[in-house]
Amino acid sequence: MEFSAASDPGRVRTRNEDSFALVPYSSGVLLAVADGVGGSQAGEVASALATRTFRESLSSHQRETPEPGPLREALALANERILRARQESARQAGMGTTMTCAWLSEERLAFGHVGDSRLYLMRRGELTCITHDHSVAQELVRQGSIPPSEAERHPQRHVLTRWLGFEPFACDEGTLDLEPGDVVLLCTDGLVSALTENEIAREMQDGFAGVALRLVEAANRAGGPDNITVVAARTAPLDERGDGQ
Ligand code: MN
Repeated sequence: MEFSAASDPGRVRTRNEDSFALVPYSSGVLLAVADGVGGSQAGEVASALATRTFRESLSSHQRETPEPGPLREALALANERILRARQESARQAGMGTTMTCAWLSEERLAFGHVGDSRLYLMRRGELTCITHDHSVAQELVRQGSIPPSEAERHPQRHVLTRWLGFEPFACDEGTLDLEPGDVVLLCTDGLVSALTENEIAREMQDGFAGVALRLVEAANRAGGPDNITVVAARTAPLDERGDGQ
């Protein structure tokens, strides 16, 4: 398995309130991205707290077959910690964060998700978004009130319906079987607000090495309106696998 990660404040904002985790282990990797909100640096505190909690919480688990349970527990614990921090400090009273996280082996992926960061799968050149944004616009799509094509331009596409630091806690979760050469990509909304999915797919088709940085640079060339974070992993292609795999 190979990895790639990059995070950048973008061209408009001075601070980077995104945070990420990339934790390789013997037979797989743990990945997370978080996009913090809340004034006066509280967004950075929230996203960092979420990814730290993710690392700590997952470090105590046996890493055999990827399952969503430990990811859900990490998200719930991060939610609790952020709620507590909000009560303890007036400066952090409005903070929260998105978090999309994944646990991968060569054969399988489990994910957990709250907010509007995203998880994509690229298989044989085709890019598919696996997660659904917890935003007002996506909620309207789900209810059939607006067509999916309108969601990317809807004025409330960035208004979240769910995040960490919110009660009651609820997350989306799932699993997927992986194939050799699949690319799993997690990103914050700064990537998709700068680039279309076609543009993202085109950058990814230029090879896996350095893909996260290439995507961040492409988003910056497109104006970099928000903080941009990308973490990605590729399962070993068939021609790079040893005997018996
Ligand atoms: Mn953002």
